[in-house]
Amino acid sequence: MSRLKKAAVTGWPVDHSRSPVIHGYWLKKYGIEGSYVARAVPPETAFSFYRDFAGSGLVGCNVTVPHKEVAARACDILDEAAQAMGAANTLWLDDDGRLHGSNTDGLGFLGNLDQQAPGWDRKAGSAVVLGAGGAARAIVWALLERKFTTVHIVNRTLQKARDIQETFGSQTIAHSWDNLGKILDNASVLVNTTALGMTGKDPLRVDLSPLPVSALVTDIVYVPVETELLKQARQRGNPVVDGLGMLLHQAVPGFEKWFGRQPEVDETVRDLVLKDMGVAP
Ligand code: NAP
Repeated sequence: MSRLKKAAVTGWPVDHSRSPVIHGYWLKKYGIEGSYVARAVPPETAFSFYRDFAGSGLVGCNVTVPHKEVAARACDILDEAAQAMGAANTLWLDDDGRLHGSNTDGLGFLGNLDQQAPGWDRKAGSAVVLGAGGAARAIVWALLERKFTTVHIVNRTLQKARDIQETFGSQTIAHSWDNLGKILDNASVLVNTTALGMTGKDPLRVDLSPLPVSALVTDIVYVPVETELLKQARQRGNPVVDGLGMLLHQAVPGFEKWFGRQPEVDETVRDLVLKDMGVAP
């Protein structure tokens, strides 16, 4: 086997993934002799692919939709975030051949806000999370890590918000969409984690008028980079952070595990991804 370290993004499909652009840039920037490729893993072979990972020739991988849960089940060791989410997006083999799984979406969310809005969590009071899908779990985990006292979860399917409440406990409160107006007036952070507002999806319609103008508004949807939610919030004076940085920051821990160097999320990598998305930086 080649001694060059090789990592990959795995999923089904994987062609849309921006990860090769991100990791390819960092490999070049730091002069590391390794490679990062896209590897499509059909759903019917996914569990055995991750379970027999040592045979893949990879030192580790990212996992994208729809394999994050199956990958977590195949790991020998999961970190706290992956356990809480029941899903892993970053895997690596240790020296004894054990497969480790992490979920770095929450860390990516935090890294992005720390970089773009330093001090955003100084008064970690009440946060409102729109959505209760896989990404919402990561965001709730991250907000609780930063000691937010209350995290409200608003979702169309109330049961899914309740499931997250059950996982994370009494600091989280599940709501249906019609409660939103009542909880926005006390929020210091508002996060959209639904797919709404993404190009090709339905628009996200939120009346921001009860929200304090000091509240940070962020959207994890990053196509388009400035969503309607962010535009509306910016126009009324709220600080805003887009979701592209989360994508970049969630890649950092994997690169460090596989290639031994903590990469910097700089303007160049952001511009490369924007270019790959067909958006002029
Ligand atoms: P998911 O598990 O499929 O969850 C989708 C969420 O959107 C659910 O809460 C769903 O509500 C809600 N939703 C979808 N259509 C809706 C509609 N018409 N009306 C009301 N609610 C609707 O997806 P996910 O993995 O959490 O990802 C969510 C979004 O985050 C995607 O756009 C994804 O691209 C983005 N994302 C970004 C990053 C990043 O790095 N920036 C990372 C991960 C994900 P129900 O439960 O009621 O169906």
